[in-house]
Amino acid sequence: MICLGIESTAHTFGIGIMDGEEVLANVTDMYTPSEGGIHPREAAEHHTEVCDEVLEEALDEADLDREDIDLVAFSRGPGLPPCLRTGAVFARSLALSLDVPIVGVNHCIAHIEIGKLKSGAEDPVTLYVSGGNTQVIALSAGKYRVFGEVLDTPVGNALDKFGREAGLEHPGGPKVERNAEQGSKYIELPYTVKGMDMSFSGLMTEAMRKLEDEKLEDVCYSLQETMFAMLTEAVERAMAHAGKDEVLLTGGVAANKRLQGMLETMCEERGASFYTVPHSLAGDNGAMMAWLGVLKYRSSGEDELEDTDFIQNWRTDDVEVTWDK
Ligand code: AMP
Ligand code: MG
Repeated sequence: MICLGIESTAHTFGIGIMDGEEVLANVTDMYTPSEGGIHPREAAEHHTEVCDEVLEEALDEADLDREDIDLVAFSRGPGLPPCLRTGAVFARSLALSLDVPIVGVNHCIAHIEIGKLKSGAEDPVTLYVSGGNTQVIALSAGKYRVFGEVLDTPVGNALDKFGREAGLEHPGGPKVERNAEQGSKYIELPYTVKGMDMSFSGLMTEAMRKLEDEKLEDVCYSLQETMFAMLTEAVERAMAHAGKDEVLLTGGVAANKRLQGMLETMCEERGASFYTVPHSLAGDNGAMMAWLGVLKYRSSGEDELEDTDFIQNWRTDDVEVTWDK
């Protein structure tokens, strides 16, 4: 079964094509704000502008024609409403014109399922860290339960905001990582973990303040050490609660080597296994939507067209996991 997946929840417009478990194409085009943070309407306009081109590129990469597509999947939520609407409209018109079934899938769960497929993790605690999300998730009684999450600013967003304040180019995450590698002095910063939930706003603001009289490299180093220790603590607690011995790291921030290292060390100490996702499949992309589309379609069939409106705050634990047998 050849499934075309569409991603449009935030800054990335992506189209991926899967033939069962095999990625045939995965093309993304990312909106970058001219200044400041992401502007939802501008991002949606970007998606409208590039969607036909991205589709052609994906078909080219897969060496397929439109008529070869058997199923259309799209990210139904959670995300920014104008962006979600653009993706849903594009998906509906594509499915109608090709006369193929359509399925709407959950963005966060798509990150987990492509991660499991590509890493070999079977039943992990997933740490999903991106620009818009920070969640600690594990499968329990038929649903992906959110054991812990961010209470304010998601990790990627906090790194990007800090980066802007520090005069680093957007996105800030990778630049903070590079600077942190040159730092060595630990500066005390607020560490806030409540149960398995985390708060990054105070930490980010304090780190910005430290820029006035500390070296950028040391502030970046301390920011990473504090943030990632918080994430690692929450993941470890979730493993104990859920009785899992695998960790899967995904989302754009998963590219960070220090975060990978800390989680890996924690796993080694517990006798657990650590997995991460190839970079091209860890950030927002269409292939993961296509793969979850395949899983959902195989287990519970297509969606009715009238059930394909976007769901802005679609929670991970609202979705019945019908495919994990
Ligand atoms: P996503 O929302 O999943 O597309 O991921 C984008 C986010 O990942 C942005 O906030 C980036 O700053 C962040 N990011 C990308 N690479 C890294 C890295 N090496 N270290 C930390 N954050 C990163
Ligand atoms: Mg994402």
